[in-house]
Parts: sequence; structure tokens; C-alpha cells
Amino acid sequence: MEAQEKDELKELRERLMVSPRLVWDHADAATREVIMAYGERYKAFLDRAKTERQAVEEIERQARAQGFVDLTGNAPGARTFYNYRGKTMVLAVAGRRPPSQGLRLIASHIDSPRLDLKQYPVYEDTDLAFLKTHYYGGIKKYQWLARPLALHGVILKADGTRVELAVGEDAGDPVFTVCDLLPHLARKAQMDKKVTEAFEGEKLNILVGSLPLGDKETKERFKLYLLKYLEERYGIQEEDFISAELEAVPAGPARDLGWDRSLVGGYGQDDRSCAFASLEAILETPEPEYTSLALFYDKEEVGSDGNTAAKSCLIEDVVERLLERAGESPQLWRRALMASRAISGDVTGALDPDYPEVHEKRNAARLGYGVAFHKYGGSGGKYSTNDANAEYVAWIRKIFQEHGVVWQAGELGKVDEGGGGTIAKYLAVYGMEILDCGTPLLSMHSPFEVASKADLYMTFRGYQAFFTGA
Ligand code: MN
Ligand code: MN
Repeated sequence: MEAQEKDELKELRERLMVSPRLVWDHADAATREVIMAYGERYKAFLDRAKTERQAVEEIERQARAQGFVDLTGNAPGARTFYNYRGKTMVLAVAGRRPPSQGLRLIASHIDSPRLDLKQYPVYEDTDLAFLKTHYYGGIKKYQWLARPLALHGVILKADGTRVELAVGEDAGDPVFTVCDLLPHLARKAQMDKKVTEAFEGEKLNILVGSLPLGDKETKERFKLYLLKYLEERYGIQEEDFISAELEAVPAGPARDLGWDRSLVGGYGQDDRSCAFASLEAILETPEPEYTSLALFYDKEEVGSDGNTAAKSCLIEDVVERLLERAGESPQLWRRALMASRAISGDVTGALDPDYPEVHEKRNAARLGYGVAFHKYGGSGGKYSTNDANAEYVAWIRKIFQEHGVVWQAGELGKVDEGGGGTIAKYLAVYGMEILDCGTPLLSMHSPFEVASKADLYMTFRGYQAFFTGA
């Protein structure tokens, strides 16, 4: 082959074929530093926001520090927040155009799989004190055994007193655990069973103490010791657990992963990777063309049901208030949403080299290749999912290209392998254009999820481009 012909083929190949871009190949020394600094802020966010309530508090704290005012109050301001019941949060930045011409929304979720305490959680067995749990979201139950757990949450007493609790994160704190069976005796109880049957929800009981109160004549003296401690420490009685929301989560901070520190390992990255990216993006957005919203929803992991979830009417109220603030009729909320463009910011499973059989490698998101589009999700024949319109996907591609965002497209696993959903379909009912777009993770939904710092940063860059890209 002549040299000229070779060059032509090379040019043709580069022009015609898609080639995935590894973020690190396109990151000079300065960009690498920015990526690493972003990773530090991100880990700090993960540590402060281990529950949806803590995430809302942290988002409000950062928003207030940047001059955001309460959307439901009277204080004037183009930058507003809406803290809904302490579990769902919306940040909004008014655009140059009136809201009725459409909004720019990025919606993520701030709840993560975990073990919730039951209504009557406290009991003793075999001279040990335990708490009963009911798991929340899609967990592989064995991953929650034999590991240190922290307890976070609130207890509301009948008189309205609110008690906040967070135990197990500080070095001096005690931790808790769900015990696992020793391998020596696990043959019939676990090893010979299917994984779905070997680990039972009713055995996810948290060990919390072993000291008795009184003597052998004292009834339930291990439970009694615990209840006495809880009353002295928190002023609560057993009945107060009925109006409590206490969540057991993996104890300890998010960590750099790998000798090169290129990855982050930690709990709750589904979906706080996207939540943090949209938080930083909206905090940094000056007056945009279109009114821009970052929505942080609760209850995604259990199907978005409930008054703090994406299926609620919250967004309608938010848009009515934004219209009023802009001097427009609140009745235009539906028109504003029909004209809106949105990103459903949620994570996806990255290609796992140990389990290539569940992925279709040509259409799997890969760690390090940037923020990932999912045109559709769901399961089976594209059931239960939003399927973004091609026109809209093309528009997002253009915005991302213009802003130098490294991105990839994929779908979650092989056809008929399994599947998963996001909140995109619940927002799509309002008529807005919406695309799933977020960070790829390894070990998704586990107590120690893994993300690439490069992808985390590109998630932020993509969201920033979306808000500022007109
Ligand atoms: Mn998610
Ligand atoms: Mn999830």
C-alpha cells in the first residue's frame, strides 16, 4: 500500500468510526489536578451525606453559603432552594428568559440502599442485644454481614421533640454489625443453597450490646440495659422507635482507591455522584439563559413512591413558585414543564472485567471513559423506561462536544440479563425532553461502590455544560 493510500484510510477511519475516549488520555497535568481536587470535595460530600436527610442538610448549607434564599419565603433573590420535608431538595437559578419558556432540570436522587430499623427493633436473644431491620432498596444481603455499620437518623418523640443520632463514623465511636455464620458450620445453612435463599432478610439483625442490667432475676436484662442507655443518652423510650427513621449504613469515610488514587471507593455513590455533580454545577452557574433547577429526590431506590419522591407533585409546586417569583402566572406550570429539557442524573453499572458475560461489551459503559448516556433503561423489550428522543440526544451530544465533555453511551447489561430503572420516566410524563446521564460505577449498590475520579469530574462538566449550554 502506498503511503498516501495509508493516510487516506487512516483519515477515513478517524472520520467514520467511533473511538471511545479515555478521559486520562485527554487530561493534561493541570486537568489531572482539577480532577483530583474535585475528588477531594466529592469524598467530603459523601462523608457528610450518608443519608437523604444529611444530603439535604449539606446541600442547603452549601447553597446558603452561596447566597441561595428559601423559595417558599419572601426574601428576594434569583437563586433559591426548596427544602421539602428535609428529604428532598431543589436548587433553582433564575434564567434570562421567563420560566414559561422552559426550564433546564437535572434530577438525581439522594437515597441509597441500606438497612432501616423496624418499628419495634429492640430485642435480646442468647444474652445479646439486637435491633431488627428491614432492608431498603436493592441489596445483595450477604454484603451487609460481618462489616462495621453506623446508625444515622432521627427520632421524633410524641411531644414533638426531635432527636438526631449519628453513631459509628468518628474514630472514637462504637460501631454495630450483622453477624455471619462461621464457614465451619455453614454447609447446609448457606453453602448448599442458592444465594437468594442462603441469606434471609429476617436474619439481618444488628448486634448492639451484651451488658446486662440487674441480676439473673431481672427479665430481659440485656434489652433493659440498652433501653436505659438510650434513655440516658437520647431521652427516648422503646415506643419512640415507632416514629423514628434510623438507617444502618456502612461505617467510615469514602476513600481513595488504588495506589494511583484515581478511583473513589465508598458507600452511597449511587446516586450521590450525580447529586454532587449537579450541586457543584448549579452553584457555579451564573445567570443562565433558561431557569435552571437541580432536583435531589428521595425514595428512588424503592420505586419513587411517597411524597418526597419523583412521582410526587413537588415539581409542580416548585414551578408554580418560580413562575410567581418571575412575575408570571403560576397556571403556566404545565407549559413550562412541556417546554423543558432535563437530565436524569443517575449512575450506571460499568463493564466489570470479572463478569463480562452479563455485559454486551460494545454497549457497556466503561470506567474512565467519561459520563455515560443511557438513551433507555428498563428491562425486557424496553419496558418501564423513558426512551429519550433522538433529536434530544443529538442536542446533548452537541452541547457536550462544544464544552469538551468526555462522554460515552451505553446500556445496562445484556438484553434480557436483568435491568433497572431511574426517575426519568416519572419526569417524562410532564412532556419534557429527558435523557439519563451519569457516572459509571463498579460494585454498584454494594456497601463499597467504586467510581473513577475522571468520570466523576466529567459528570460535573457535563452537567455544567447542560446548565450553561443554552
Ligand atoms: Mn440510582
Ligand atoms: Mn440504585
